[in-house]
Amino acid sequence: MARDVFALVDCNSFYASCEKVFNPHLADKPVGILSNNDGIIVALSPELKKLGIKRGDAAFKIDKQFIRKNGIYLFSSNYTLYGDMSNRVMQTLHDFTPDIEIYSIDEAFLSLKGFKHLNLTKYGRQIKRTVYRHTGLPVSVGIGPTKTLAKVANRFAKKHPFIEGVFDIIDHPDKDKILRWMEVEHIWGVGRQYAKMLRRNGIENAFQLTQAPNKWVQNKMTIVGLRMVKELRGISCINLEEDIPPKKEIVSSKSFGTSVTELLDLQEATAEYCLRAVEKLREENQVASQITIFISTNRFKNEPQYANYASARLPLPSAYSPDFLHAAATIMKKIYRPGYNYKKSGVMISDIIHQSKAPLDFFQPCYLDDKRKVIMDCMDEINEKMGNHRLTYAASGIKKPWQMKRQALTPSYTTSWQHIPVVKAI
Ligand SMILES: [Mg+2]
Repeated sequence: MARDVFALVDCNSFYASCEKVFNPHLADKPVGILSNNDGIIVALSPELKKLGIKRGDAAFKIDKQFIRKNGIYLFSSNYTLYGDMSNRVMQTLHDFTPDIEIYSIDEAFLSLKGFKHLNLTKYGRQIKRTVYRHTGLPVSVGIGPTKTLAKVANRFAKKHPFIEGVFDIIDHPDKDKILRWMEVEHIWGVGRQYAKMLRRNGIENAFQLTQAPNKWVQNKMTIVGLRMVKELRGISCINLEEDIPPKKEIVSSKSFGTSVTELLDLQEATAEYCLRAVEKLREENQVASQITIFISTNRFKNEPQYANYASARLPLPSAYSPDFLHAAATIMKKIYRPGYNYKKSGVMISDIIHQSKAPLDFFQPCYLDDKRKVIMDCMDEINEKMGNHRLTYAASGIKKPWQMKRQALTPSYTTSWQHIPVVKAI
C-alpha cells in the first residue's frame, strides 16, 4: 500500500501579505494589522518583527515618532479582504489534489498519497508558484510522511530562506538534525503546559521526544500525545479531515467602538449582529430555532459591572431575518438594565438543521416553501450584487454610533465593485 504523504501549505504573514498585494509600494515596508477597535497588533510582516514589535503589543504604546521614523504602516483588520483571499488560495490548492483539509484561514493540508512518482519538492514549488501567480501571496510548503512532520518541514522551510519556501522531509538525510533543531514549543499539538513539562524532564526538542518510551509519553501526555510522538517518528496516525461538520451554532458578537448605555442602541447593535448570523445560516441552506442574546460591561474598567444573557425559541425553525430580529429585541428588553456602560453584545443561533429537514407544521408553512424564503433569497442576491449590505433592516440603525473603530481600514478590493483597484497606464 502506498505510504501517506502530506503537504502543509501555509501563507507567510497572511494578513500583512494580503495588504501588500494591493499596495505594491508596501512590498518591503514594515506592516502591522490591528485587532477589532484598533487595539492590539494581531499580525505583522517580517520587516515589522525585525523592528522588535511583537504580536499582542498594544498599538497605542508604540511611539508615534518610532512609527514615522521607521515608515511603519498599521491597518485595521480587513476580514472581508482576508476571507476572500483565503478562498482564492484554497481554490488554487484544490487544483493540485482532490484531498485537502482547510486547517485555518491561511493553512491547508494536502494529501499527496500516490504522488510518489513525482518529484515532490518540484511539485511543491509548482504549488508555491501557482498560488503566487493566482493571488500574489507567498506561501511555504512542508512535505512529510505525517501531518506532524509536514508541519515541521513547513517551519523549517519558513525559517531558512535559502530553502526558498519548499521542503520535503521524507527520507531526508538530515531528518534527525532537523528534529533536533525543532524546539518542543513549536511542535504541532504541544501546548505551553506540555512544553514546560517536557523541558522539566530534559526533553527540549522533537528528536529527544521521539526517543521517549511510549508508556512514559502516554502517561504524561495521554493517548493524543502518544499519537503526536508516533507521527514525529514517521508513523501516520492523524488523517485528513475533509468534511467540515455542519456548524452547531453561529455566534456573532463584537465590542462596541464606544460604550453604550441606551436600550435602543443596544438593540440596534444586536440587530446588526443578528442579521449577520442569520445570513450565515442561509449561506449554508440551514434553519435554526433557538436564539440567545448576551450583553456585558467592560470588566477591565473600574465601574459598575453587569452581564446577562437569555434565550428564546422560535415556533418553527427559520432563516427569515425578522423572526430573529423580533426575538432579539424582546430578549434585549428583558435583560437590559439602565445605568451601566455596555461594552459588548452578541447573538448565538443554535439548534441548527438543514432547511430540507425542517419539520412540517399544520398551521404554518415550512420556511423552505414560504414567501419568506423568496424574500430572503432576493435580499441576499441584491446584497451580493451591490455589496456592503445595501439592503438591510432599519432595526440595525442608521447612524450606528456603537460601531467598531476601524480608522485605518483598507478597501475591500476583491469583494466590492466600489473598491476595485484602479490601474493607470501612463
Ligand atoms: Mg501563516
